Amino acid sequence: MSYYDQQNALPQIKAYRPEFVELGGHALQQTLRRLDRAFQSFFRRVKAGQTPGFPRFKSAKRFSGFAYPDPAGWKLMQHGGRGATLRLGSGDAALSIRARGRHRFGAEAKPNDITIMRRNGQSFVSVTLRVPESACVRQRTADMRRGMDFGITDWAAFDDGRTIDNPRWVRVDRPKLAALQRQRARKRKGSVRHKRLGHDIARLHDRIANLRRDFVHKKTRCMVQSCAVLATEQLAPKTMSRSARGTVETPGRPVRQKAGLNREILSAGFGMAHPMLAYKAEEAGTRLHLSNTRQLKPSQRCSACWEIVPKTLSQGMHICPPCGHVMPRDRNSAMVVLIDPHNTQDTPGTGLAARPKPLPRQRGKSRSVTRETPATTPCV
Ligand SMILES: [Zn+2]
Repeated sequence: MSYYDQQNALPQIKAYRPEFVELGGHALQQTLRRLDRAFQSFFRRVKAGQTPGFPRFKSAKRFSGFAYPDPAGWKLMQHGGRGATLRLGSGDAALSIRARGRHRFGAEAKPNDITIMRRNGQSFVSVTLRVPESACVRQRTADMRRGMDFGITDWAAFDDGRTIDNPRWVRVDRPKLAALQRQRARKRKGSVRHKRLGHDIARLHDRIANLRRDFVHKKTRCMVQSCAVLATEQLAPKTMSRSARGTVETPGRPVRQKAGLNREILSAGFGMAHPMLAYKAEEAGTRLHLSNTRQLKPSQRCSACWEIVPKTLSQGMHICPPCGHVMPRDRNSAMVVLIDPHNTQDTPGTGLAARPKPLPRQRGKSRSVTRETPATTPCV
């Protein structure tokens, strides 16, 4: 059965289920499209020789939400400075939802589509705005050049020696999480108390995720706002946090320790930091340079003489035997990635061709948004 078979059946379904008429045809079609995509992906994976799970039936309880794919059937009204009202449907059946806050794109931004999601018993609406390019511009307050190194001990270390502490949300909330999970384990499965504790656990997970996202948003914004050039290394949290368990033939090394480290790596939100940096930098006309980690080896290279100085993870200091350069390890890495885009010395494999392309500067934008007097106190 194809998407179009189902779409053509909608009028008959609506005749039996009048509540679907109120929802509007576009929302129904969008849901069918999502279903179609799930099956297309399933067949694609089967064809590729993988073993995907069969798309499961989503009961009302599992149904995560639906979308209005175009500006019809709903309306977002902004009330002055803050606050807005979202109207779903029309006429008597219309539903009004009050919203907090406001977007930063001004009157030119037009609401384009919405997705209504349900999580932990709460409903959320995500609104996509169609925005003219000029309205995306971010203000830059200074024109520093910064190299930075993301890590676990310090969430970020900069080339000038400053650092940002790692808040370690998971570590802080883990005892609470464990306690809830222990309590739930004592309850009978399917009971009201078991369910209630399940919700508490989900809410705590949510809280940690929200704190993390908020933190990364704020920190990356500060970095972009104060810098004209940002340099860091490409990261692959997925590879970094691979399990140490290994296989039967090559059994793992210290699994527990690696699991702990993995938890910290994933908890720090690095996977989120780079995409955020990329789009924020583009909006501010900031150049983001991502060094090729494997070829540059920022944590092993000496920022003074460009030699490779092998170290283990536990060595916190960079001590260079050839030139005598001594510096905290992370700061040295930050300096190496900052030098990398301008480096003219011969680094095998880090020539222009081998280097990842820096994100293109937005045409002529940086000059118009950079304030004349750079702020004296950087915020990172
Ligand atoms: Zn050196």
